[in-house]
Amino acid sequence: MIYDKIIVRYGDLVMKGRNRNQFEKRMLQQIKLALQSFPTLTYVKTFGRMTISLNGESFEPIAERLKDVFGIISFSPVIGVENKLEDIQAAALQLMQGLEQTPATFKVSAKRAWKPFPHTSQEMNHLVGSHVLRAIAELKVDVRNPVVDLRVDIQEEATYIYNTVIKGAGGFPFGSNGKAMLLLSGGIDSPVAGWMAMRKGLELEAVHFHSYPFTSDKAKEKVIDLARRLSYYAGAPLKLHLVPFTEIQTRLVQAKQDNLMITLMRRAMLRITEELANRNGAGGIVTGESLGQVASQTLSSMNVIGRATVLPMLKPLLMMDKQEIIDEAERIGTFATSILPYEDCCTLFLPKSPSTNPNLNVVERAESYISELEQLLREAVERTEVMELTPDVQASEETAGEDRWF
Ligand code: ATP
Ligand code: MG
Repeated sequence: MIYDKIIVRYGDLVMKGRNRNQFEKRMLQQIKLALQSFPTLTYVKTFGRMTISLNGESFEPIAERLKDVFGIISFSPVIGVENKLEDIQAAALQLMQGLEQTPATFKVSAKRAWKPFPHTSQEMNHLVGSHVLRAIAELKVDVRNPVVDLRVDIQEEATYIYNTVIKGAGGFPFGSNGKAMLLLSGGIDSPVAGWMAMRKGLELEAVHFHSYPFTSDKAKEKVIDLARRLSYYAGAPLKLHLVPFTEIQTRLVQAKQDNLMITLMRRAMLRITEELANRNGAGGIVTGESLGQVASQTLSSMNVIGRATVLPMLKPLLMMDKQEIIDEAERIGTFATSILPYEDCCTLFLPKSPSTNPNLNVVERAESYISELEQLLREAVERTEVMELTPDVQASEETAGEDRWF
């Protein structure tokens, strides 16, 4: 194990006009949370980046975890040495000799961020390069397209030598951009939407509507698994609100507006979610909608559905193709769960020909005829069950019922 540290780089470009201090504090907090199973690591925050000392831990399992931390642009395993030429040369050679196989070509890219260092970047390229070349006979320099690009980063506190840059998840640290409610179905799309929203720094609480006993415990388990997976990315426990939706759906069916059924259901979902958002301090609603994917996801359907809430609707997948969404779902590890064949509450009540162009007046009138609708919405909120999910610990049921209404 030649590397003794990891350099983590995060959003210096994206932080313009933002509270940098707070951003960096969050970043550090999220990284520490993600790496809490490696208690020997130590952390030093420098400008726009962070250095983690491995203290004997191996890099790979830590890298696996760091890849999923939002806000990180990239990171590198490095050898850190004092700002002395001989030490830098020795470390560079050590790194090159420690590679799995000797590369045919290399170059040195030195960067002198700490100006008092006595040699310029150019000089360092030669001083380090020639030292390595003298020791490894078969190695050649190729400045255009080298197999190994050996970086020498001279900072005030130390010089870092490394040859790999691993891409991070990007975005903002979790929770640095406020909180929203995620409408989480058991499908492919909404978990991906949740991941994308979290990547942008949103803290999420998930809301799932079920039609027990028409939908099974298996369907519920599936959603719990998806929420648990999302909590891994959050690096924190994730709340899942399970809303009983059977009575509302049953009542909406009686309105005999078959082709508006989806519109009516979605509006009811949004109204309940808005109340849950108010109670939990969330300022937006995230969904997995993608333009044109199904009848309820036309522009005109979204218009009529969206009017049921005043909260901003956030739809990260809006412009993505299904295949792109599936690829993402596979990458974030939700796809296999999402395609388990359990009924969703909405597919149960799916009309033969859902309207792609619902009329707002007709929809509002249909709702106004259901005098007990408000009451049913209220009851659904009160009977909502809340779970707090963590990635590995068994789910624990926390509270049942919430105690205030619109
Ligand atoms: P998904 O794959 O996320 O289920 P979808 O392509 O099946 O999406 P719809 O079924 O029309 O599309 O649902 C659109 C969005 O509405 C979902 O992405 C999700 O955000 C929300 N939604 C649908 N059903 C539920 C549910 N039972 N509970 C919570 N949210 C839901
Ligand atoms: Mg669905």
